Amino acid sequence: MPSERQHRREIARFGKMLYDRGYVAAMDGNLSVRLDEDRILATPTSMSKGFLRPADMVIVDYEGHLLAGRHNVSSEIAMHLLIYKLRPDIHGIVHAHPPTATGFAAAGIALNKPLVCEVVIGLGSIPLARYGTPGTPELSETLEPLIPQYDAILMSNHGVVAYADTLHNAYMKMETVEHFAQIALVTHLLGRQQPLEGQDLEKLLLARGKYQGSHSLAPMPLACGITADSHRNRLEHSATSRLDDTNQPEASFRGRARAKN
Ligand SMILES: [Zn+2]
Repeated sequence: MPSERQHRREIARFGKMLYDRGYVAAMDGNLSVRLDEDRILATPTSMSKGFLRPADMVIVDYEGHLLAGRHNVSSEIAMHLLIYKLRPDIHGIVHAHPPTATGFAAAGIALNKPLVCEVVIGLGSIPLARYGTPGTPELSETLEPLIPQYDAILMSNHGVVAYADTLHNAYMKMETVEHFAQIALVTHLLGRQQPLEGQDLEKLLLARGKYQGSHSLAPMPLACGITADSHRNRLEHSATSRLDDTNQPEASFRGRARAKN
């Protein structure tokens, strides 16, 4: 089990990686680690994630009250507290505004098509939460129904939050979301998408048990109502979906397939 000192260094390191990769600008984003059942270690407000030192972090309780640290707590801590409350398996959270995934979030498009095999294994799909003003209970309300089911969420007109059993794995999920968003964007540019389906999809869902990311307690449905246990014989979408489909938030493949008929 890593010490608090190690967690502080880890947060600074992954914060710098977010900054170096352009996933955050200015003071954007925040990271946190569950230290124990009483305390969370988090990045402070109003500081660039590219230049944080281990001593800059704040420690808060599960109500968001500052317990230790010389900086102020971010107003976005409420989102972290909610995730830790709803998901006892989660020990690390990364929130950022990576440009491509945030572009999808600003366009109102979820990343919920099974276009890439490794994303299916690691994340299932990435839903889009409706807009909520940052730093208000509104934002938590939009995320609450999605947190138990998914390990990464697009937040409309805002950004992405990813979480996992460790901060390292949460950061990796954030990278996967942005990389997948870039691939999905290329399929949009090419004007065609060819989602995985049928037995190919089923094998990937079964393979989750062998890969990292599969330890998540979330069912990570590929779309609403389709999970590793329930997807069999339920995927009704066509082999090649047209891109003029409106990819509505939380819309399922089944819903869209029906809408077209
Ligand atoms: Zn934000």
